[in-house]
Amino acid sequence: MSLRNKIQSGIDYLIMKNGPHRYEINEHRITCNQCKNEFFHEGQAQLNTAGMSFVGLDWANKTATTLACLDCGHIMWFVKTLQKVPNR
Ligand SMILES: [Zn+2]
Repeated sequence: MSLRNKIQSGIDYLIMKNGPHRYEINEHRITCNQCKNEFFHEGQAQLNTAGMSFVGLDWANKTATTLACLDCGHIMWFVKTLQKVPNR
């Protein structure tokens, strides 16, 4: 494999790993609440902060998955595991 192909493989891997991707939860496709886009960048957010305990959400503890809309930037939070929809 040439150096150029190795670099391209690395780039393809990073895009595959870091998105953007489409997601499902409980077999329902996730769409942006604002613009109905289906592609998101995935992230993680801590839930066990003092503020979250104050509002009674420390049952969730640990982390939430965040999805940032690729088009409008709206962020949605999920405490359940999401499934990535394979890109075609
Ligand atoms: Zn959006």
